[in-house]
Amino acid sequence: MSVDALPASTPTRLLIGGEWISTAAGLNVINPASYGTLAQIGDAGVPEALQAVDAAAEAFQTWSVTPARMRAEILRNAFDLMSANIEDCARLIALENGKAWRDAMGEAVYAAEFFRWFSEEAARIEGGFRYAPARDKTIITDHRPMGVAYMITPWNFPAAMITRKLAPALAAGCTAVVKPPAETPLTALWIGEILQQAGAPAGVVNIVTTSRSGPISEAILADPRVATLSFTGSTYVGKLLLKQTAERVLPSSMELGGNAPFLVLEGANVDAAVSGAMIAKMRNGGAACTAANRFYVHESISTEFADKFEAALRGLRIGPGIDQANDLGAMVNDKERDKILELIGEAAAEGATITEAGTAPATGAFVVPHVVRGIEHGSVLTRNEVFGPVAPIVTVASTDEAVRMANDTEYGLMSYVYAQDAGEGIKVARRLESGMVAINRGIASDPAAPFGGMKESGLGREGGFAGIHEFLETQYFAVDL
Ligand code: NAD
Repeated sequence: MSVDALPASTPTRLLIGGEWISTAAGLNVINPASYGTLAQIGDAGVPEALQAVDAAAEAFQTWSVTPARMRAEILRNAFDLMSANIEDCARLIALENGKAWRDAMGEAVYAAEFFRWFSEEAARIEGGFRYAPARDKTIITDHRPMGVAYMITPWNFPAAMITRKLAPALAAGCTAVVKPPAETPLTALWIGEILQQAGAPAGVVNIVTTSRSGPISEAILADPRVATLSFTGSTYVGKLLLKQTAERVLPSSMELGGNAPFLVLEGANVDAAVSGAMIAKMRNGGAACTAANRFYVHESISTEFADKFEAALRGLRIGPGIDQANDLGAMVNDKERDKILELIGEAAAEGATITEAGTAPATGAFVVPHVVRGIEHGSVLTRNEVFGPVAPIVTVASTDEAVRMANDTEYGLMSYVYAQDAGEGIKVARRLESGMVAINRGIASDPAAPFGGMKESGLGREGGFAGIHEFLETQYFAVDL
């Protein structure tokens, strides 16, 4: 098998109404580690997008009343099938996104777990019964599937951002139109094929790959048969979409950008903090909404932390993600790489001390890890979501100062705290304005936990017990019994 070969079962056409549909024009998918073309896929326009809505609306009539047990079993089949073919999924992620093999495998496993978790949740959707306080009636609450869900996903987690939406939507009884990013559509189509094999009826899942996200989304969101939008991506595009969904007062789940602070407090174990920082910063080469974007380290340990972190970064092997020996893969494309390099350039112009920890291959969209010292809170790197392997380290004099700086952002997705013990960590976590806080560890994501942000990082929660409610409408019946 050539290095760039796709798994044999990778579809390249649109999935609409249970059929794989060709389009007149095609869209090239590029491997960012070699710039080779991986495949040419379908490029949907507005007609195909609306065809997908037709299929989803029709399938909703039966899927919404299919017994939850049956929906659960199809999702469980999807988990089993995905798990049995997990290396194919990881291969596609590594090839089209560029990330390191370990990250690709980690994502594939995490993505499959959403099918398992929501297969379990499908059969446990609760209603309620109680007497009104005046006892003049009873209050019965029911949850019913919203209808056709439109899903827009980003390129940084080509599999997990799809299953984190599709699994709860299908569990709830909704049908879906999915629009993956043009950079990483193959993994999405592969998941579509898994769901077909798992027994999802025609039209329950439709996937439209496209180079025309804007016009397609406008048409889909204006269609009265579409009941909800679930978006993961940048805050900028999230705000554009919220303006559109406001027109129809459409429920909108928004998983947006982040600017995660990583606090290392006085008395924290420096070696543990460095191990956590390697995960929080370097998973996905820094291209994660939860990635530690700025480090606030107590002055008593900041030099030791920076030295040890830099040494650990120097130990990483950089190269194509598909080669399992590499620890850090390519960025998704040259545009993303150049954005990161530009921010590093601006930090240098501000007078920061920047060290390159390693060397990158000559070809491909690679960025070597950078450690940035001698910067203040408020510098360009602490204000912007860098989305790459860049670690700006700010020295702080106290916990209060670290908390103040951590909260000084419009984002509120993720924070990390390394403290002397868990008790102190939780106390500080309660003061942080973020939807998630990892305490004395470098990762928090778990399909069984509620994922989501405060402030401009989003609306709603995915995963956990909350995730399915993004796709359910609450209805109340007033009854005299
Ligand atoms: P992006 O906002 O550029 O794109 C996200 C998706 O929106 C893609 O499918 C894209 O094609 C589509 N899109 C772009 N313009 C559109 C438009 N006008 N109308 C409709 N759709 C449009 O984001 P990205 O660069 O793909 O991903 C990186 C961003 O995603 C980062 O900001 C990251 O923090 C965020 N993200 C957030 C989470 C989370 O759970 N909070 C998870 C992963 C990524």
